[in-house]
Amino acid sequence: MTFQNKAAEAVRLIRREAEATRAAGGQVYMTSSFQTQSVPLLHVVASNGLDVEVLFIDTGYHFAETYGFVDALSRRFGIDVRWIGSSAQHAALPDGGARALPEYYRSPDACCRRNKVMPLREVLRPGDMWVTGVRRDQTSHRSAMDPVMVDGQGVRHVRPMLAWTAGDVAAYAAAFELPAHPLGEKGYTSIGCAPCTARPEVAAGSGSAARGARWAGMQKSECGLHT
Ligand code: SF4
Repeated sequence: MTFQNKAAEAVRLIRREAEATRAAGGQVYMTSSFQTQSVPLLHVVASNGLDVEVLFIDTGYHFAETYGFVDALSRRFGIDVRWIGSSAQHAALPDGGARALPEYYRSPDACCRRNKVMPLREVLRPGDMWVTGVRRDQTSHRSAMDPVMVDGQGVRHVRPMLAWTAGDVAAYAAAFELPAHPLGEKGYTSIGCAPCTARPEVAAGSGSAARGARWAGMQKSECGLHT
């Protein structure tokens, strides 16, 4: 299947599931990490006028370039992105953030849970729909995912990019001349929070795939949002 066909299928899937969600009284959301590989799905949603509220989870640890890219893409695509989570949470730590080691270093799972999973959980209600850009070719965990799944909280996960390959993403981006995350020029392949994204030379040394640039050296490949 060509990337054009996959894009058309993504639109059909989102429309069909959103209609069913709204008919049952639910809200329709999409999260985006605003990496280069996230841009095609944002473009699919914006260019087809899909009625989806786009969320950006602000952990407070993103690169300055990521914050700038969120703003630039929002303007370019005419998307009213809702930011959830907040760097303000860090000021609310019991010790005022004055621990010897930051939370992402001491316990990345707890950090991801507090700064990513919980802020999203406060938004998503049973019966809501959550669109994500996960792909089967990214991790072994994602390779076993289904396009639609209702989780234990009653939230409907919809994954329109699941069958896309990295090549499809690149082809779509080239066809529509989509912008890239500014850190891509510096060699970054997968970009998350700054403390947990390996510098390009470190990631290359690990010999791992793109997602290996995240939490380098740890037995961790998922933040917990999709597990
Ligand atoms: S990716 Fe790192 S800094 Fe970001 S929430 Fe997870 S552990 Fe914390």
